[in-house]
Amino acid sequence: MKSWVKSIILVLLLTTVTAGEVNAPPTVNVVYPPEGKEITSSDSTFIFGSVTPGSDLVINDQYIEVHKNGAFLAYLPLKPGDFVFQLEAMNQGGISRKEVKVRVPFPRLPTPKDSLRTETYDKAPSQDMVLTSGDIVQASFRGTPGCSASFYIEGLTPYLPMTESSKPDSVFWGEGVFGKWERKDSTVPDGLYTGLYEIKPGDRIENGTIVFELIKKIQNPDSFYFPSQACFDREKMLVCLADSAPGKITIKEETIPQIVELKDTSTIVRTGPGRGYLLLYQPRGVRFVANGRNGEWIRLRLAQNIDGWAKAEALNFLPPGTPLPESEIRFIRTEMKDDRTLIRIPLKQKLSYEIEQEFSPPVLILKLYGGNSDTDWIRYDLKDKVIREIKWEQLEKRVFQLKIYLKQKRFWGYDIYFQGNELYLEIRKEPIVKYRLKGLRICIDPGHSPESGAVGPTGLEEKVVNLEIALKLKYLLERTGAEVFMTRYGMEGVSIYERPKKAIENRCHILISIHNNALPDGVNPFVNNGVSTYYYHPQSLELARAVQKELVSDLQIPDQGLYYANFTLTRPYQLLSVLVECAFIIYPQQEELLRSEVFQKKCAFGIYQGILNYLKEK
Ligand SMILES: [Zn+2]
Repeated sequence: MKSWVKSIILVLLLTTVTAGEVNAPPTVNVVYPPEGKEITSSDSTFIFGSVTPGSDLVINDQYIEVHKNGAFLAYLPLKPGDFVFQLEAMNQGGISRKEVKVRVPFPRLPTPKDSLRTETYDKAPSQDMVLTSGDIVQASFRGTPGCSASFYIEGLTPYLPMTESSKPDSVFWGEGVFGKWERKDSTVPDGLYTGLYEIKPGDRIENGTIVFELIKKIQNPDSFYFPSQACFDREKMLVCLADSAPGKITIKEETIPQIVELKDTSTIVRTGPGRGYLLLYQPRGVRFVANGRNGEWIRLRLAQNIDGWAKAEALNFLPPGTPLPESEIRFIRTEMKDDRTLIRIPLKQKLSYEIEQEFSPPVLILKLYGGNSDTDWIRYDLKDKVIREIKWEQLEKRVFQLKIYLKQKRFWGYDIYFQGNELYLEIRKEPIVKYRLKGLRICIDPGHSPESGAVGPTGLEEKVVNLEIALKLKYLLERTGAEVFMTRYGMEGVSIYERPKKAIENRCHILISIHNNALPDGVNPFVNNGVSTYYYHPQSLELARAVQKELVSDLQIPDQGLYYANFTLTRPYQLLSVLVECAFIIYPQQEELLRSEVFQKKCAFGIYQGILNYLKEK
């Protein structure tokens, strides 16, 4: 905007300010983004903070609405590189200016069609790999679109064909999770070439390089820019360029299979190197067959067609000849304890396990990897009120399954651990809830502290408002007879991992973690805000749904969704765990609501009523 135009607008804006005596220029406070922030979106993002109430505000030549308490929130276009938000706030006392400098990433540009080059990113394999017969190597690189390409593994294969794949039409993740599924991911250019090779029995190689070749047909060599190292076939008018993958290939069957053992008390086995969870919290001493490697990640063969991955540093590599991690399951017994029933499964060694839950009728499914059935005896405790029947099945070689059918209509949590080589599976008995909530133990976790959590435009800290809502919920629950524990009662610091532990140690039936939300860069806060509720284990879904339903109808703010989400506070399985994001603290209207006692009470009441509704539903 031209400066004289801006001056006229400023004068017009200044004359509209009428609120009271104003002697000083407005204060300008930006909460987000902080100076120097690396923004994770390339095209637009939000900025929020506050100015003196009654001021007018312009950011990067756009007039921005200021909430009556002075809060502002804007969703503005960005430009890649060093980017500056220029804020100008004005009132009768004068004009204040502020700048916030951030870094905006450059989107990846497509490789020009008239070039011949390979890109440094997206080359695969990116890490050294140890592979075995039957594994498939997927080699890929990015380069000039519209060429032909091939690859070979040095010392192992001839030239193998590669194909250029079309650009995936995928949605940007922040938009997919929090948004309206509208913005496409614009960061993926064309020119991805891929090729495959399946390792054959007898293939052997140590640190073999994967070599790519990109070939382009040209019309006129005089007008073509030849990259250095390029080869040229003048007869066929073909230019070629070689490159290689960073990761090397080793196939050395004599070291496979290798038996490994978990070092730590609690290891997560993942679906791929650095990917999501496959097996939750496996204890120290559990053994696996390892048969491959990708960089620092070791591939664990759970069954014929099921692989898991763990970091090499989490494993002890056992000497050659160590027996396979296998055990027969000969007999099982149930034992009633005070508020749970124990299932004892004696094993020869510690095997990995996985638990699933199904409903109507409720059944808990335990899979034991390395388990072989020889099961002729299951002894039931006659006094037990939890378990109706246990059925075993050998699903496939090395996968033993137990289906535990419950007498009660719902799950109230379970626990699983080893004592020696004996596997203990505990199933929680349904609590006897007498008058209203008497008999129920509930743990409330006011999210964050010592760190502030998200911060609103006028500086409201999430940890403060989370505690306010938690205390009000505690009052409602106790008034109706529930026994309530809190992970914190004031502003003391409690680590995120301590919180579920406290709930479990106090034998709570329900854990409610209270939070207030913010968004990742690049998602529009004006169309995505409101209340949301999260669960992880199937047993907690119906409670989460009941709480979300009640909050949506009580709070009169948008429904931002009921989510399955892998959070530390939704992961405990010993009890029902639900996390609530009451409102969006970064959104001025909702930050203002969160400051009010009335709205805090509504949040607490919605959660409370959601719990009551869940109990009534059955
Ligand atoms: Zn939070």
